Amino acid sequence: DPQLNPNYCFENFIEGDCNRLARSAGYAVAAKPGGTAFNPLLLYGGVGLGKTHLGQAIGNEIKRTNPEKLVIYVSCEKFCQQFVDSLKNNTINDFVNFYQAMDVIIMDDVHNFAGKEKTQDIFFHIFNHLHQSGKQLILTSDRAPKDITGLEDRLLSRFKWGLSADLQVPDLETRMAILKKKMYADGIELPTEVIEYVAHNIDNNVRELEGAMVSLLAQSTLNKKEINLGLAKSMLKNFIKHTSREISMEYIQKLVCEYFEVPIEMVKSKTRKREIVQARQISMYLAKSHTKTSLKSIGQFFGGRDHSTVIYACQTVEDLIDTDKKFKNYVQDIQKKLKMS
Ligand code: ADP
Ligand code: MG
Repeated sequence: DPQLNPNYCFENFIEGDCNRLARSAGYAVAAKPGGTAFNPLLLYGGVGLGKTHLGQAIGNEIKRTNPEKLVIYVSCEKFCQQFVDSLKNNTINDFVNFYQAMDVIIMDDVHNFAGKEKTQDIFFHIFNHLHQSGKQLILTSDRAPKDITGLEDRLLSRFKWGLSADLQVPDLETRMAILKKKMYADGIELPTEVIEYVAHNIDNNVRELEGAMVSLLAQSTLNKKEINLGLAKSMLKNFIKHTSREISMEYIQKLVCEYFEVPIEMVKSKTRKREIVQARQISMYLAKSHTKTSLKSIGQFFGGRDHSTVIYACQTVEDLIDTDKKFKNYVQDIQKKLKMS
C-alpha cells in the first residue's frame, strides 16, 4: 500500500504516560481489526503529537500480520478532494465502492470534514456500511469529539461509538527517549547534555523536537563540528523562539475556499450564490483582521469591489458571529487553521 509509510511502526513509537492508552488500544485493534469494541478508534491530540504515526503503525501492523487484508490510509483532505473529483467525473459509484470494499480505513484529521456537508454525507454511508460488516475504522482528529465543530450530528455521534483516546504532550523523560531513539536510528551520537537541553526547551510537540534535532545534525555536518552544549544553544536560538509568518490574502482565500468546497475563481466572480457570498465575506473579514491590507485593496483583490462592500461584508460577518453559533464555529475553525500556518 503506497499510502502506508513503513517508517511509522509500533517499534519506533515510544511509549509514555502521554500515549499509553492510545498506543495499547491501537495495538489491540491491529491484532483484531473489527473485532474489538474500539470501533471506530479515534485518536486525538494537538499538532505533532503522533496521531499520524500511530494510525499508520496500526495499518502497517495489520498488513504485516494479515497481508490479505485491504487497508487504506487516507487523509480526510484527500478523501474530500477525491469526492469532489468523482462528482466532476461522474464516478461516485466507483469512489464509494472502493472505500466500501476495504477491511480497514485509517482516516487522518477528520476535523477537516468541518463545513463539507456533501462529503460528510458520503462518508456517513461508507462508515455505516463498513461498521455493519465488522470492518475497522481508525480516525484521527486534532481535538476530542465533543469539541469538533462543523460536523453533522449523526456523523459526530458515530465517531463517539468506539473508543476515543488522546495523545498528550510527552513528558521530559519520554521526550528524551524519543530523541535518543531518533539519534540511534540515524546512526549518530550527541552528548547527553545536548539531548537534555533540547528535550527541556522544546516541550510542546514531537515534530518540533525532531526538527530541532535534524537542524542540529545538518549544521554539524555542514560545519564539520562536534556539537557541544554551547553550540547547540546558539544554533537552536531561532528554533526555540517562534517567529510568526505573515498571512497573505491568497492564503486566506485558499483556506476559505477549501473549507467550504467552493472553487477559488468563484469568490472573485460576480455570483450572488449564497455559499459563494458567504465564502467571499468571510475571506474579506479575515483579510481585514489578519493582514495589514487596506479596505480598498481587499475589495480590489476579491473581484474588484469597492471599500464599502468590504465594510458591509465585515459587518455582516460580525453580526452572524454574534447570532449564529454554527457560523461562528466555521469562522473560528478557519482562524485556527490560519494561525497554524
Ligand atoms: P500528528 O499527526 O499528531 O501531527 P505525527 O504523527 O506526524 O503527528 O508525528 C510528528 C513526528 O513525531 C513524526 O515524525 C513522528 O514519528 C514523531 N513522533 C510522535 N510521537 C512519537 C512517539 N511517541 N515516538 C516516536 N516518535 C514520535
Ligand atoms: Mg498528522
